[in-house]
Amino acid sequence: MNTDSIREEYLQLVATVREYVQEQLELGFTELQEPQPESPYATFDLRQLDADAQGCTRCGLHATRNTVVFGVGDPNAALMFVGEAPGADEDRLGEPFVGRAGKLLTDIIEKGMHLTRADVYIANILKCRPPGNRNPASDEVEMCSPYLERQIELIQPKVIVALGSFAAQKLLNTKTGITALRGEFYPYGIAGQRENAPMVMPTYHPAYLLRNPNAKRDVWEDIKKVMDFLKQG
Ligand code: SF4
Repeated sequence: MNTDSIREEYLQLVATVREYVQEQLELGFTELQEPQPESPYATFDLRQLDADAQGCTRCGLHATRNTVVFGVGDPNAALMFVGEAPGADEDRLGEPFVGRAGKLLTDIIEKGMHLTRADVYIANILKCRPPGNRNPASDEVEMCSPYLERQIELIQPKVIVALGSFAAQKLLNTKTGITALRGEFYPYGIAGQRENAPMVMPTYHPAYLLRNPNAKRDVWEDIKKVMDFLKQG
């Protein structure tokens, strides 16, 4: 290989990297995270993690919750759904996605994917209900995230469907909204700390679909991509 062709190859490589970085910036993936301190739950199994969460007082939501909504489903599931936080029905029953929006998610799983809720794992970013279903506060997310992070580490799903902006932004460490993100796969932990990271498919939250039934078509397209991905093994 002569000097000119090496130089040309080098310039092409630089252009490719520049294009990739620009794309990531446009999608809002702006920050490389500092290495995180080891999780306090690094040695916990799912049962221990659940038991710990049941008594958790790490953030102010413990004072207003009725139950801790840890998560349900197959601890070895290839597919995980992650939403934002429990609502009133979930807070009462201790299970995620059991209200009207939950019924819609169950329909997606059962009628759309021909699976059962027991075949997948369903959880939220926050394990306790914010009063009046207000948006989660950043300190609540920070305090609660180690639970979800350890759940994902233990379950090792192939795909995580992020339901709504909040879950997608948290799982992908981005500020980009759901409309721009949905329909594409991204590696979980975009900050690059994980090998063999699950892929994240952002899509609309079922509660949004209740208000905007036309968006069901988009969600179905996203879910079909997830099914195809899972079929590929
Ligand atoms: S939301 Fe999470 S961090 Fe806050 S009290 Fe509940 S389990 Fe603990």
